Amino acid sequence: MVLILNNLQACDATGADETVALPTLAGASHAELIEALGSLGVPNRQLRMRSSQLWSWIYARGISAFAEMTDVSKDLRAKLTEAFSLERPQIVTEQVSQDGTRKWLLRLPKRGDEAEAPEVETVYIPEADRGTLCISSQVGCTLTCTFCHTGTQRLVRNLTHGEIVGQILLARDRIGDWPGAEAPQDGGLLPDSERKITNIVLMGMGEPLYNFENVRQAIEIAADSGGLAHSRRRITLSTSGVVPEIGRWGAEAGTMLAISLHAVNDELRDELVPINRKYPIKDLLEACRNYPGLTNARRITFEYVMLKGVNDSPGDARALVKLLAGIPAKINLIPFNAWPGAAYECSDWEQIERFAEIVNKAGYASPVRTPRGRDILAACGQLKSASVKLRASERTKATISSGD
Ligand code: SAH
Ligand code: SF4
Repeated sequence: MVLILNNLQACDATGADETVALPTLAGASHAELIEALGSLGVPNRQLRMRSSQLWSWIYARGISAFAEMTDVSKDLRAKLTEAFSLERPQIVTEQVSQDGTRKWLLRLPKRGDEAEAPEVETVYIPEADRGTLCISSQVGCTLTCTFCHTGTQRLVRNLTHGEIVGQILLARDRIGDWPGAEAPQDGGLLPDSERKITNIVLMGMGEPLYNFENVRQAIEIAADSGGLAHSRRRITLSTSGVVPEIGRWGAEAGTMLAISLHAVNDELRDELVPINRKYPIKDLLEACRNYPGLTNARRITFEYVMLKGVNDSPGDARALVKLLAGIPAKINLIPFNAWPGAAYECSDWEQIERFAEIVNKAGYASPVRTPRGRDILAACGQLKSASVKLRASERTKATISSGD
């Protein structure tokens, strides 16, 4: 059973709201808050103090109305309310899988030259001891990995840093992950930890290193200890292998790194992950060896999607182990998540186990990532297009529908 909590699409199928929305400060950087306050006539000598107050209300307490900022003067609150909002990205649909995974389809503000308001997806995956939020960095993707559904869509645009942070704020709102907030009563499972979102992964739509500056700024905001306070060690950026940006990312953002490897030789990787033609495996692994802060305690995760008869032989497993020798690494085997029209099948379970055994024997803990949220098409590589399909048929349905 799939519980669809929100289907705002039904009320506003066109997104053609002509009223001009106020600019939102939800997702703003320190500099942007200072600029906003300056534009309202706050004197220079007060700007720092006032922006810190706003920061704490927006990012530590998660308020979504300026009126709640009780230590800010009434006059300033009124001015803020008149000129700005604290709006999050608009929810088009919110789905809760039977395993507790939640997926939001979000609509971003339309820009001048865009025919339609772009949409992206955010997924929350609760487990017993952790909660992982998977966020998107681009609408679509310029790369064309042959096994990835997002890769079949053209790039619409990069997300701004505010839109990337907006996904975190919205998820925190919806699962009650603010101090004193209540968890939702809809049967969705939540982890036992004090915080509901313990980990953030940039594994949604898009190639985050092709939107470097916005993603970097967003992580800056998310990691700030006086606000959202997500430790950089619990934030993971996944890349298909944009080699020239890997070292810079480590130096400037300092998050954990995941590499979408998926093949052990250039011939096959050229086909599966075409960016490999530009940056072959040797160069990619060299960039990994030089990743700033890499130690045995801070390993790189190598993602490996299991494609039946393509990359899943015992020989491939042995070659994988050999290839990664000397790099502090974790290996994540991902069962292929099929999508309509995909040219691949997921490896048989016995084949995955055989593969995992070889990798384990070589000393890698290689958990096979259990597919989550399959009933709501929320698994890796299934984002966006599939839900567009789903949504079309759901528009006319009641708010609770049956899945598989
Ligand atoms: N663009 C980045 C991050 C987003 S994709 C990257 O490629 O790393 C997140 C992960 O999901 C990547 O490892 C990607 O290769 C994997 N993936 C994509 N499509 C998939 C599918 N259909 N089944 C399983 N994993 C998939
Ligand atoms: Fe883009 Fe990553 Fe999908 Fe490749 S796997 S098409 S890089 S989102």
